[in-house]
Amino acid sequence: MSELVLLSPLHGWSTPLEEVPDPVFAGRMLGDGLAIDPLGSTLHAPCDGQVAALPETRHAVTIRAAPGLDILMHIGIDTVGLGGEGFVAHVAAGQTVRAGDPLISFDLDLLARRAPSLLTPVLTIADGALHLVRRIEGRPVQVGELLMEWSNASASPVGPPQTGAETRVRIVRVALEHGIHARPAAQVATALKSLRVEVQLHIRGRSADARSATSLMTLGVHRDEEVEIRATGADSQQALEALEALLSRRAPAVRAAARPAHAAVTAPAEPVRAGAVLSGVVASRGVAVGPAAPLQRRVLVVAESGAGIEQETAELHRACAAVRERLERSLGAARGAAAQVLEAHLVLLEDPQLQARALEAIGRGRSAASAWRGAIGESIAALRELGDSRMGERVDDLTDLEHQVLLALAGESPASAAAIATGSILIAEELLPSQLIGLDAEALAGICLAAGGATSHVSILAAAAGIPALVALGPALLTIAAGTPLILDAEDGQLRVDPGETHLERARRQIAQAAEQRVRERELAQRECRTADGVRIEVLANLGSLADAELAVRNGAEGCGLLRTEFLFLERREAPSEAEQQCEYQRIAAALAGRPLTIRTLDIGGDKPIPYLPLPVEDNPALGLRGIRTSLWRADLLDQQLRAVLAVEPLGQCRLLLPMITDVAEVRAVRERIAAASRHIGRSAAIELGVMIETPASALMAEALAREVDFFSVGTNDLTQYTLAMDRGHPQLAARLDGLHPAVLRLIGRTAQAARAAGRRTAVCGGLASDPLAAPILIGLGVHELSCVPVAIPRIKTLLGSITLEQCRTRAEAALAQDSAEAVRALAAMPAGHRGAVAPLEA
Ligand code: PEP
Ligand code: MG
Repeated sequence: MSELVLLSPLHGWSTPLEEVPDPVFAGRMLGDGLAIDPLGSTLHAPCDGQVAALPETRHAVTIRAAPGLDILMHIGIDTVGLGGEGFVAHVAAGQTVRAGDPLISFDLDLLARRAPSLLTPVLTIADGALHLVRRIEGRPVQVGELLMEWSNASASPVGPPQTGAETRVRIVRVALEHGIHARPAAQVATALKSLRVEVQLHIRGRSADARSATSLMTLGVHRDEEVEIRATGADSQQALEALEALLSRRAPAVRAAARPAHAAVTAPAEPVRAGAVLSGVVASRGVAVGPAAPLQRRVLVVAESGAGIEQETAELHRACAAVRERLERSLGAARGAAAQVLEAHLVLLEDPQLQARALEAIGRGRSAASAWRGAIGESIAALRELGDSRMGERVDDLTDLEHQVLLALAGESPASAAAIATGSILIAEELLPSQLIGLDAEALAGICLAAGGATSHVSILAAAAGIPALVALGPALLTIAAGTPLILDAEDGQLRVDPGETHLERARRQIAQAAEQRVRERELAQRECRTADGVRIEVLANLGSLADAELAVRNGAEGCGLLRTEFLFLERREAPSEAEQQCEYQRIAAALAGRPLTIRTLDIGGDKPIPYLPLPVEDNPALGLRGIRTSLWRADLLDQQLRAVLAVEPLGQCRLLLPMITDVAEVRAVRERIAAASRHIGRSAAIELGVMIETPASALMAEALAREVDFFSVGTNDLTQYTLAMDRGHPQLAARLDGLHPAVLRLIGRTAQAARAAGRRTAVCGGLASDPLAAPILIGLGVHELSCVPVAIPRIKTLLGSITLEQCRTRAEAALAQDSAEAVRALAAMPAGHRGAVAPLEA
């Protein structure tokens, strides 16, 4: 077929595919096209053809326009889970249809209530033979109206190299809840993309090419059915393993966490009136006053087809070189978190897979811009499949890089696209790290985002630059007119819109006082920390990079209480060598200039998967191979890491810390390996060894553990998660996941008591250590050392210097007697010395 005309199958609003809140569609993993936000409730045939696939759940249909040319329409998102409820099919599989024939009717109200989105992707899967020459987007469309036009592509697709290698066969029972439907099919196809292999799936006498998602879907494989996988080619073993892992998962193939971390704020909103207060999530603490400066997001229109392979390839290289040069220039002047972001962008920009994907798309006739966007989309989709909330930062980086290269292709730079007036409060739906770096941070009074997450890179950057920021303020934010006076209170999580002169004046006074206080605190932070009555408390920093170490020292850190080594090598595709690790640890030790450096062994698994160490599929990764369990499972990696740490000089500077300990046997097993590693490198001096107290088991076994180790470090993030049985990444439980819960405090208290009895130190390195309300309580419970995020150190040191140990103890006793985290917070917010209306705990 040389061309294909598709008519609109639905009455609705035609929308770019990128807006579909599902990475599989938005990343074009299944095919290219667009989405329709339906206003009508019957899906019609977009062209003449045959019904190639119609699942029992009737939520999607594939029309075969010609051999190798399929049109997939998927009504709403995540609608497979409705099990057919609300859908009526007017056709059957195999039936011939004419353009405009009704295919499926659906209950629009039911879908609006039950599906996360009604957006209906309409995709063409054309084996690379066709490319899109016209698509009607961003406006209403009627059934039967022209929607897309495709025509013959000049280049042929790149196929998997075949070598005549042996065929490997494996039988796999499909455990996916809804069988092999659209998303798992796309994941299978994606998993095979970079492999040199040909794979066929066989079931019930039928077979399908596993590289073709639509072909897989036509098999109609259900849960608990057995499929035979036949793989031929150099990477056949790898392919079988990848497919077995994908198909035998019991949970749905893409978890909720795989949704865009910062879904676009699309809901229309009432304009905000004067005096209104919007609530958001604090991303960077502080208060700011200034006029609203809405950031107009540049809409970059991208042409699908290119002007020839040579020209588009040259364009892409030119744009990437321009971005690289600008990033390197900025990196020269950047420090701390900004430098980290720029480094991450440089690494991603050079990523060979990303470049190869883009060049391959150019080879198929795409323009440089469209090829780059597609390649980034695929990488984002792959990352989101990992379902790791921390991967959100990498997704932000990729989105940012997409924007930077597209701007460069258009001959612009991020700074020119995002200039705002001095002293303004920036308002935007989302902000990219490069946009923030491109702005004059000194001139920016504050940042308000309608969407966004508190742990995104932009939030980290804002915090590092000391710019108050609120995120997740909702769509109403975007209705605020330029110049409207605002008070951004990123202590209380509120944005006051046009609040009147009295409020503005009061806020200005508060800001001036806070600025003076910060200057004082930073000066004082260089001294060692003591309570008001002279008790020595060490305040150290949590680090994830060399840049963090430099920032920490400037903020008065007395050392590092936790180096999260898993974050040092996150971008890698293969495990870092022993020499690389040693070099990185040594650089951080040097940056700390003799201050103690606590190096935690790799804490991977759970919510921290790592690309170079694929873990077995687990139903409940947070309760599976994590932390020390993973290290003892892969003792070869542990031994390498131990040798690298033991070799850091001077010998006494480093301490070793073990994550996720639950009993003494784990400590003894590691001790033996430390002894062997020391012998291996010829070290005779002992190294201080500590364990993380982050499981209830370790807190309850603290007496026994104290006999085995030199110190404890309480990880309140995990201790809270495991004590309260609440996932630390769960968005709905976030407000209740509070380490000040009395149950958590009791575990910390008994840990510190056991340590003291054995003459051991207790540190806290979880998030609670950086919380000004929590720090005095922790000290009162018997903790000697706090390890904080670097920017929090001056405030924590000042705070501890203003309170006596006795006051901390009184506060801790009162906290232990409360019955909820809210009550502890209310108590902790009272002035020092106040015991509240509660009786202290009986001694
Ligand atoms: C913790 O659990 O509190 C901790 C410090 O470890 P991480 O946040 O790296 O899991
Ligand atoms: Mg932890």
